[in-house]
Amino acid sequence: MNDNQNLFTALRAAFPAELDTVAIETGDGPGAPLCYTWRDLERATAMIANLLDSLELPRDGEHPPRVAVQTEKSVEALLLYLAVLRAGYVYLPLNTAYQQAEIEYFVGNAEPAVVVCSGKNFGWVSKIAFKAGTKHVFTLNDDRTGSLLERAALQSDRHVPAQRSASDLAAILYTSGTTGRSKGAMLTHGNLLSNALTLKDYWGWTDGDVLLHVLPIFHVHGLFVASHGALLNGSKMLWFSRFDPKAVTARLPEATVFMGVPTLYVRLLAEPGFGHEACRHMRLFIAGSAPLLIETFNEFRARTGHTILERYGMSETVMLSSNPYRAEDGERRGGTVGFPLPGVQLRVSDKQGRPCPAGEIGGIEVKGPNVFAGYWRMPEKTKEEFTADGWFRTGDVGKVGADGYVTIVGRSKDLIITGGYNVYPAEIEGYLNEMDGVAESAVIGVPHPDFGEGVVAVVVPKPGAAPEPAALIGALKGRIANFKVPKHLFVEATLPRNTMGKVQKNLLREQHKGLFGA
Ligand code: AMP
Repeated sequence: MNDNQNLFTALRAAFPAELDTVAIETGDGPGAPLCYTWRDLERATAMIANLLDSLELPRDGEHPPRVAVQTEKSVEALLLYLAVLRAGYVYLPLNTAYQQAEIEYFVGNAEPAVVVCSGKNFGWVSKIAFKAGTKHVFTLNDDRTGSLLERAALQSDRHVPAQRSASDLAAILYTSGTTGRSKGAMLTHGNLLSNALTLKDYWGWTDGDVLLHVLPIFHVHGLFVASHGALLNGSKMLWFSRFDPKAVTARLPEATVFMGVPTLYVRLLAEPGFGHEACRHMRLFIAGSAPLLIETFNEFRARTGHTILERYGMSETVMLSSNPYRAEDGERRGGTVGFPLPGVQLRVSDKQGRPCPAGEIGGIEVKGPNVFAGYWRMPEKTKEEFTADGWFRTGDVGKVGADGYVTIVGRSKDLIITGGYNVYPAEIEGYLNEMDGVAESAVIGVPHPDFGEGVVAVVVPKPGAAPEPAALIGALKGRIANFKVPKHLFVEATLPRNTMGKVQKNLLREQHKGLFGA
């Protein structure tokens, strides 16, 4: 029996016996379609792992060396991730949108032994890395060029995966930092593997599944949930480096599973060719990373006959809850994130840490084998985020209904306190989104001299509509308590979102902070 808890070993064990079948086929990017067999995955990860081993990277106290990666999405970037696991090092993906000041912070904070970047960024990235003490900087481009692959090509294609225990670090994911300084969430081999095994079963991964992969691979959703799901099932991936609704619609008939952030679903629905026909072989559409509007959920069902399965998770915990896959476990309910996953405990607590009764809103706390090992080099911050009895405070506000369904109301930092009253932005947004001519909205609190915070709404109109701020405010007045009604409402063409589709309320708060002259 092999008791190596290295995540790579588990993924490798799931490769099909027939290694010469296609594991990944590219749908876009240079040279597409390119096909990679399972044998290619086995050999390439061995060669890159051997290259990393040949560098004789020093261990850093209790942790293996870290490999920080900021490259465009490519199959080779995924192979690099798998090779880092295989060699037993710690993978540290960085959002491709990050600029110099951000990279300087991450590299300075994480002190990676190796940095891999796009060739076009080598000049400035290597300068930052060398200054921070990193000795090895490689390039990797999205067209299969760069020094990483050149050097790996000289290595043996055989490699014995490093022995790792479940508690050894596998990856550090920096949180998106929409509410403060980004923190490095330390995830272990055990965190990632336990979650992947749970999802394999809960989402009914089956023989013949094909995943259409469109998400970025610097984030928990695309890197872990999507990639691990397919690999652990020995399933082929149709690999897109970016989301193009037309191209995705064209290739969807070859797929059975799709994972997207809510904005991708909105964009698919705006694609005229998208509908029943394109989805004819689909088994499962999964959404997460940000709230899915109930309208999108309903429109998607009407257009395709498929009910999107919404799930909830975060960098620190991978996946926490999911709507049911199997009908016998319950319906997939729009506007909720379903039930805590098997093995995950989830509770809602009030400010004093007392359990909230069913249906009451409070802070969501979780426990389970998926919960991370703490924030990198932030022991104080880590301590703050765990309760005395060992539950992780997610920072999300929500409720658990009497029937067990979990609903997210927002981030605790987005909670508005006006004149001493709590206002949950999601409640007001829900009312606004149902109004004529409104596509979506964001409600924020900004400094107010009398009330502490004043409620402000930003509304995006539906195409061709021009809702009147005064009329929207008037309509709200009859329906909700006055203290919840926005004092100002702006109609804007779009909401600021990050690459994972999350509304960046911090930017809206910044933009409107002087509104009440506080
Ligand atoms: P990240 O660590 O970047 O994945 O962000 C995690 C956060 O995204 C969570 O703490 C939630 O606030 C939010 N999130 C993830 N999935 C959902 C969902 N289905 N509905 C609402 N918010 C979500």
